[in-house]
Amino acid sequence: MHKLAWILCLALAVPAAAAADGRWYRREAAAMGTSVRVELWHADAAAAEAAMEAVLAEMRRVDALMSSFRPGSELSRINREAGARAVAVSPELFALIRRAQAISALSGGAFDITYASVGHLYNFRQGIAPDDGALEQALPAVDYRSLVLDPAARSVRFARPGMRIDLGGIAKGHAVDRAIALLRARGVREALVSAGGDTRILGDHHGRPWLTGIRDPRRPPGTSAVVLPLADTAISTSGDYERYFERDGVRYHHIISPRTGRPARAARSVTILGPDATTTDALSTTVFVLGPRAGLALVERLEGIEAVIIDAAGRVHYSSGLAPP
Ligand code: AMP
Ligand code: MG
Repeated sequence: MHKLAWILCLALAVPAAAAADGRWYRREAAAMGTSVRVELWHADAAAAEAAMEAVLAEMRRVDALMSSFRPGSELSRINREAGARAVAVSPELFALIRRAQAISALSGGAFDITYASVGHLYNFRQGIAPDDGALEQALPAVDYRSLVLDPAARSVRFARPGMRIDLGGIAKGHAVDRAIALLRARGVREALVSAGGDTRILGDHHGRPWLTGIRDPRRPPGTSAVVLPLADTAISTSGDYERYFERDGVRYHHIISPRTGRPARAARSVTILGPDATTTDALSTTVFVLGPRAGLALVERLEGIEAVIIDAAGRVHYSSGLAPP
C-alpha cells in the first residue's frame, strides 16, 4: 500500500510538471557529512539553478562554521579554547547554542550538546566505543548547565575540565531552515530541502501534499514503515541505523544518553513534525534519548509538535495529533 502511494505520487506529478507556469527542479549533493537534496518549483530554469546552487553554498557555509570535524570552524575553536577562557563567537553560532541550551532545559538534559565530552570517545566507522573506566572519567563533563553563555559578550565558556560540544543534533536543521529562508527571499513558494534526516517543506507539491516516507529501521533504505502527506512543515527523523556498528550482538549507535554516556536504547527511530527544522532536528534527537513514554509526554506538552516513534520492539507510537481517533 505504501509503495502504491509513492507510485501514485509520481504519476500525479507528471501532468503537473508539464504545466505552463513552471516545473520542478531537483539537485542532490554531498554536504554537511550527508546527502543534501533540494527540489523546487520554478518558472525560470536559470533562476532555479541559481537558487539550488545558493542552497548548497549555504549548507557548506554553515558546515564550515559549525562542524566539530573541521579544525578551522568556530565550533572547533570553542572546543580548543573555552576550557581556558570565554570565547566570543558569531551571532549565528551563539544563537544556535542558546537554542540548544533551551532544548536541554526543556528535556531535563536529554538533549545536551556537551554529550560530546563522551561522544568523542566513540568512532562508529572504526567500531570503537569507550570502556567503563574511560566513560566514568569523562561523564562529569557532560552537563549543559556547566556550559556558560554570556549574551552581552556573546561568549561561551566551559566550567568543567574535559568539556566539549557538538552540534550534530541540531545544525543540519538550522542549515535547512536557512536554505528555506534563502529560497523564500528569492521568490520560491514551493520547495523541499533536506539534509540527511532533516527536511523542510515550503508550500505543497503544486496543489497536492508531499508524500513523505518514514523508513522501516530494520529494512533497507526505501522501505517505508509509515507514509505521511505533508505541506508547509518540517520533519526530522533520528534513527539508530544512521551511524552504528555492532559488537557481541549490541548495536552501538550515535545518539547518546547524556546520563549514561551510552547509546540510548528505548527507540529505533523517532520522527518529529513541527514548524521549523531547527526545532524538529533537536527534538528528534531529544525524544530518541527520552524513549517512547517520556518522549511522547514531552511532545504532548508542546504546541504544534507531533511525533512518530518506532520503539525498541518495532512498535509504532503516534502523538495524539496524528493517531487515528
Ligand atoms: P540526529 O540524527 O539529528 O538525531 O543527530 C544525531 C547526532 O546528534 C549525533 O551524531 C551527535 O552528533 C549528536 N548527539 C548525540 N547524542 C546527543 C544528545 N544526547 N544531545 C545532543 N546531541 C546529541
Ligand atoms: Mg536531530
